[in-house]
Amino acid sequence: MPRLVMKFGGTSVADLDRIRNVARHVKREVDAGYDVAVIVSAMSGVTNQLVAWCKDASALHDAREYDAVVATGEQVTAGLLAITLEGIGVNARSWQGWQLPILTDNVHASARIAEVNGAELIKRFEESRQVAVIAGFQGLHKDTGRITTLGRGGSDTSAVAIAAAIKAERCDIYTDVDGVYTTDPRVAPKAKRLEKVAFEEMLEMASLGAKVMQVRSIELGMNHNVRIFVRSSFVKPEDIDPKLPPPGTLICDESEIMEQQTVTGIAFSKDEAQISIRRVQDKPGVAASIFGPLADASINVDMIVQNVSADGATTDLTFTVPSSDYERARMTIEKAKDKIAYDHIDGSTDVAKVSVIGVGMRSHAGVAASAFKALSQEKINILAITTSEIKFSVLINASQTDQAVRTLHTLYGLDKA
Ligand code: ADP
Ligand code: ASP
Ligand code: MG
Repeated sequence: MPRLVMKFGGTSVADLDRIRNVARHVKREVDAGYDVAVIVSAMSGVTNQLVAWCKDASALHDAREYDAVVATGEQVTAGLLAITLEGIGVNARSWQGWQLPILTDNVHASARIAEVNGAELIKRFEESRQVAVIAGFQGLHKDTGRITTLGRGGSDTSAVAIAAAIKAERCDIYTDVDGVYTTDPRVAPKAKRLEKVAFEEMLEMASLGAKVMQVRSIELGMNHNVRIFVRSSFVKPEDIDPKLPPPGTLICDESEIMEQQTVTGIAFSKDEAQISIRRVQDKPGVAASIFGPLADASINVDMIVQNVSADGATTDLTFTVPSSDYERARMTIEKAKDKIAYDHIDGSTDVAKVSVIGVGMRSHAGVAASAFKALSQEKINILAITTSEIKFSVLINASQTDQAVRTLHTLYGLDKA
C-alpha cells in the first residue's frame, strides 16, 4: 500500500468537533487505500499557555523542564484523535516522540531531529493497516533519556521527518489556509495562492517570517526530497471529489516549476531589533571588536550597515538582532565599550524586516531598485538593506509593515498573479 503523512496544526484540532473532522479526513485516505501516519499539534492556544506557565513559574527556567511541560500539549491531541478514529471504526494507535522514538540532539526547546525509527509503524501498517497518530513537536535525547521539543511550529518538522522515515508518497500539511500564499493573507487580502513553490523559495520565505511552515521542515524536505503539500483542514471530507486535485500548494524541486515569476512572495518579521553604535572609531579591527563579543554571546546578527566616515575618524554602525536578544546585545556592546571606543548607542525594537523572494531574481536585474522607489513614494523610510541571490530585505519602522507589504505586493504584480 502507498503511504501518506497527514499533519494537522493547532487550529485544525482546536476542539473535539474539529478533531472529529480530522478523523474523517484520515478515514477518507485510509478508505482510498493509503497507510497513514498522522502528526498532530497541540490544540490551538495550548502551547502558548504552557509556555506562559513556565515563564511565570520562573523567568530563568531550565529548558529541560520547559520541554517536559510544553510537550504535553501534543500528547493530549494524539490520544484524543486515536480515540476518535477508533470510534469511527479506524484501527489507530497513538505514539509519543519518545516511544517511536524520534531521536534528537539535546538543544532543549529547539532540538534538531537526528533519527526517526519508522520500522514499528511500517510493521503495523503491514500487519493490520493500523493508523499511527504521532505527537508532533517532541522527541527524545537518547543519552540523557529526556524529552525534547523542536521549537515553535515544530510539528511541521516532525511530519516531514516521519514522511522521509516511512518513505511516504507525500506529506500533506493541513492548516487554516488552503496553501502557501504570495504573502500572509491576513495582511494582504489580495494575496494569491501559489500552485507550486520551490524548496529554496519556501526556505527563504519561512526563515524571513512566513510562519506557515517551520524552516527546518523545509530543509528536511529538500534534503530527503519529500513532496510537501499545504492544504486546508476546514474543507469537509465529504465535499472532496477524489477525482479532482484538491486546492493547495506543492512545495517541490525548482525543476518541477515550468513558469517562474521574478518575484514569488513577500515575507515579513516584526521580531527584529536595531542597534546603532554612534561615532565608532573608523579603524581596522573595529568590526571584529563589535561582532566578536556578540558571536561569543550566541547572538545572531542579521543586517549590518556601516556608514562611510565623514570626518575620516569616526563612523556610525547599525545592525539588527532578534528582538528577544535586544537587551543582551546592548549589554554586550556596553561591556565592550573600552575596546570598541564609541560615543553612545541607541536602538529600537519597533522595526520590521520586509523581504521579497523569488528564484527569478537570479536572472533579473533591478528588482530591488524598483522597490526602493515604490517605498519612498509611500514615505516609508528604509533603515537598512540586505540582498542575496534570490531575495532582498529592507528594515523599516514596524508601524509601516502592512503598508510596505501591500505596496510591494502590488509593485511586483502579485495582486493579479
Ligand atoms: P498551524 O497551526 O496549522 O501550524 P500556523 O498558524 O503555524 O498553522 O500557520 C498558518 C498561518 O500562517 C496562516 O494562518 C497565515 O496567517 C500564516 N502565513 C504567513 N505567511 C503565509 C503565507 N505566505 N501563506 C500562507 N499562510 C501564511
Ligand atoms: N504546538 C507547537 C507550537 O504551537 C508545535 C506546532 O504547533 O507545530 O509551536
Ligand atoms: Mg505551524
